[in-house]
Amino acid sequence: MSDCIFCKIASGEIPVDKLIDDEDVVAFRDLNPQAPEHILIIPRQHLERLAHADESHSDLIGKLILAANKLAKKLKLDESGYRLVINNGESAGQSVWHLHLHLLGGRDFNWPPG
Ligand code: 5GP
Ligand code: ZN
Repeated sequence: MSDCIFCKIASGEIPVDKLIDDEDVVAFRDLNPQAPEHILIIPRQHLERLAHADESHSDLIGKLILAANKLAKKLKLDESGYRLVINNGESAGQSVWHLHLHLLGGRDFNWPPG
C-alpha cells in the first residue's frame, strides 16, 4: 500500500530503529508511548485490520504474538507482566490501518481497559 505509513516503515522508506526486522515481522517503538515500554509489532505484509485475517494468516498471527513474547523477554517484562493490545476498527481506537500489535510494559495497567 503506497500511502500506508507502516508499509513505509517496514520497507525502510521511513527510517526507524527496528527491534525486529525479519522476513515477516517488523517491530519498532511507538512514536507516542503510553507506557515506559511501548513497541509496535507489525506484519511486513499489508493487512488493514485483524478482522480481515483468515486461516491463510494463521502462521503470520502466530509469528506476531511470538515476536511480542520474545521482545518482552528481551526487555525483561516477562516476569513483571506486560499487555498486548490489538485495536480493531474505529470503536476500538484503531488509527493506523495496517494490523499492529501493541506491546506495553514497565508499569501497572488497569482492568477493564478504557
Ligand atoms: P492504533 O491507535 O491504530 O492502535 O495505534 C497506532 C499507533 O501508531 C499509535 O500508538 C501511534 O502513536 C503510533 N504511530 C502512528 N504513526 C507512527 C509513526 O509514524 N511512527 C511510529 N513509531 N509510531 C506511529
Ligand atoms: Zn500497510
